[in-house]
Amino acid sequence: MARVALVTGGTRGIGEAICVALKDAGYTVAANYGGNDQAAQEFTGRTGIPAYKFDVSDFDAVQASVKQIESDLGPVDVLVNNAGITRDGTMHRMNFDQWDAVIQTNLASCFNTCRAVIEGMRERSFGRIVNIGSVNGQAGQYGQVNYAAAKSGIHGFTKALAKEGAAKGITVNAIAPGYVETDMVRAVPGEVLQKIIKTIPVGRLGSPEDIARSVMFLIADEASFVTGSTLSINGGQHMY
Ligand code: NAP
Repeated sequence: MARVALVTGGTRGIGEAICVALKDAGYTVAANYGGNDQAAQEFTGRTGIPAYKFDVSDFDAVQASVKQIESDLGPVDVLVNNAGITRDGTMHRMNFDQWDAVIQTNLASCFNTCRAVIEGMRERSFGRIVNIGSVNGQAGQYGQVNYAAAKSGIHGFTKALAKEGAAKGITVNAIAPGYVETDMVRAVPGEVLQKIIKTIPVGRLGSPEDIARSVMFLIADEASFVTGSTLSINGGQHMY
């Protein structure tokens, strides 16, 4: 039977490319999203992949929704924690809500989703978890203490859970993308983006497919010796 994969934030951008790559490789895929119903409907229309609406920062909603997905599709063997947001601002202007929303959505969400699937993975002695971090969690970024802290936290979370899962056939890895052409990056003012592109040695933004290819490497059944790693995919912008 095909393995079941859940991709949070799977209906747009990087998440959509990951969902499509998984489906093309024969996985049964569930995409999650937070609130943009129109984008989710269009995604399902384009790909045939079901979209489940729940807020990854809401612990109880995540537990209930994962139960629903498992009842609809089967036990989740592959989890890609991709949902993320930015709420930028320099420290002296950032309010608590900006801080909290980013920490809850980008970092606490990883606890919420992993907690929902980890017992099943341990029972089946198989699991693949990939957490999407960021170059800005590795290098820091002006105006992003919230985002850099959340993404940096993901890298520590990944290593700790990798140690716990190793003896149970569960691998846990992170990907730290550089700047990738999605709605999130399209929101950056044009002149700022041009400056950023000048700092990328390969001279372009990444594509969502650049990231999806790496997820497929990490989640393969054969990738059982790769765990606790962070794969940097950033066009050479930051060599970590
Ligand atoms: P995006 O185009 O903005 O898409 C974000 C996805 O996350 C959407 O499907 C969105 O759902 C979902 N989402 C947001 N908040 C959610 C919540 N509370 N609950 C459930 N789903 C939620 O983002 P992206 O650029 O593809 O980024 C994907 C991941 O890569 C993020 O973790 C981001 O931080 C990371 N990343 C991106 C870049 C980049 O350059 N793009 C670089 C480094 C890391 P709705 O459609 O319902 O809003």
